[in-house]
Amino acid sequence: MDEYMVLEFDGDSRNESFARVTVAAFVTRLDPTLEEIADIKTAVSEAVTNCVIHGYESKGGRIRIETRLLDRTVTITVKDFGIGIENISLAMEPLYTTKPEMDRSGMGFAFMEAFMDELSVDSQPGEGTTVVMKKRIGVIEDKSSEIE
Ligand code: ATP
Ligand code: MG
Repeated sequence: MDEYMVLEFDGDSRNESFARVTVAAFVTRLDPTLEEIADIKTAVSEAVTNCVIHGYESKGGRIRIETRLLDRTVTITVKDFGIGIENISLAMEPLYTTKPEMDRSGMGFAFMEAFMDELSVDSQPGEGTTVVMKKRIGVIEDKSSEIE
């Protein structure tokens, strides 16, 4: 069964906690551990912060988060319609940042990659950026026990 939720809000830093708590609340029905919830919150926070400070350069703009639950996998899509990323693979390298003057450490994508099972980034300069993250929740190693 596929379950879906969409959330759209202003790119305001106050909405970072709103977004991560809302996504976490939706994922709760998969009965995640506290650690899994913390991982998802961190990843959502990093993605939303990037939309606010990079995508919209702190000038605001819409951010859209789609969350899909299918079996025990949560798929979270975070999208902005801002400046976009010129070189995606460079941007995803740990410690790479275009805003060192703002005390950014260039670790956002590295955290998303570490805390989620899959991460993909799609972006067009001038059109925006879409980040898709997946995580399997409480997956039992032995697939044969997942019959119910
Ligand atoms: P940190 O996340 O550690 O505070 P950071 O945001 O610079 O620092 P990442 O989150 O890894 O580091 O992002 C790396 C770079 O990718 C950013 O510096 C920025 O240039 C670019 N980037 C990331 N997300 C977006 C976005 N939504 N729109 C435009 N550029 C982005
Ligand atoms: Mg970041």
